[in-house]
Amino acid sequence: MYNGNGDVMQVIDLTPRGYCHGVLNALAIVKKVIKTESYPRPIYVLGQIVHNEKITKAFKEYGVISLDQKGKTRLEMLDNITSGTVIFTAHGVSDQVIERAKEKGLTYLNATCRDVIKVHKAVKEKLAEGYKVIYIGHRNHPEPEAVLAISSDIYFVEDEKDAMMLPTSLIHDKVFVTNQTTLSRYDIDAVLKIIETKYPNYLFDNEICHATTVRQDAVKEQDKVDLMLVVGDKKSSNSNKLAYVGEKAKEITSHLIGGVEDIDLSWLKGIQSVSVTSGASTPTIVTEEVIKFLKQYNENDPTTWDHQTNILLEDIL
Ligand code: SF4
Repeated sequence: MYNGNGDVMQVIDLTPRGYCHGVLNALAIVKKVIKTESYPRPIYVLGQIVHNEKITKAFKEYGVISLDQKGKTRLEMLDNITSGTVIFTAHGVSDQVIERAKEKGLTYLNATCRDVIKVHKAVKEKLAEGYKVIYIGHRNHPEPEAVLAISSDIYFVEDEKDAMMLPTSLIHDKVFVTNQTTLSRYDIDAVLKIIETKYPNYLFDNEICHATTVRQDAVKEQDKVDLMLVVGDKKSSNSNKLAYVGEKAKEITSHLIGGVEDIDLSWLKGIQSVSVTSGASTPTIVTEEVIKFLKQYNENDPTTWDHQTNILLEDIL
């Protein structure tokens, strides 16, 4: 990669990046159902199996129907399914959804990540021990939806503003705080600061998963670069957080891109170095295409500027 002065620019491939164990497991489950004819058809996924549009489209080619209806809960979406096999996504699903699938006589497979199951377990245990539970997460994301369905006694907090609104009466209770697996410590610490002033004796269980933590650490520990590109879907919480951490921890201009086709060439103008990482639900082939493009890019040579993707849907899975 060359900049406008003809200098070679560095392209830094951050590691670890890309698929985590939860995503690999979820993809393997969908592939198994596609291959196994004894699973009743049609095949439904309740939501997006993982938050990546390219993966959803690739599975669609095999007849997999991803029900991702904005504003509808998993339970509401399930009501539209009358037959076939339904797969629950890596983000987790409530007990009510599982029960409803059984009542409807559907064949179902649960691709919930084990790290998400761990959070469900912790929340259930603490509620049983008489704690009031505060859960930090993102609104309209499926992971909090499943956790909040555990009990109406869980207080949901997205940001400092929500934390300020928590009732002062909880001071008399045992308070347990936990979080969505794909947040960053920046999101959590800002909220904890407020919780600490309200309920000084609160108990906190950090549930940012290992995969999210090590990918964010790689971003934090990199040398300063002029630009960071995060390859991931707009809906992917962990991908968004990588860009956020890049900006917050290192003040690196960071862009989230779905693939090479989303690169804006003006970002590369005159820069000396660019780092690349990807979210836990981003296919490796998509990230590799971005890196390959950057490595051959020459600001002075228009023949190196074409950044249309050559990846076919069948290459994604
Ligand atoms: S990002 Fe973490 S919680 Fe989400 S699927 Fe991957 S390992 Fe599981």
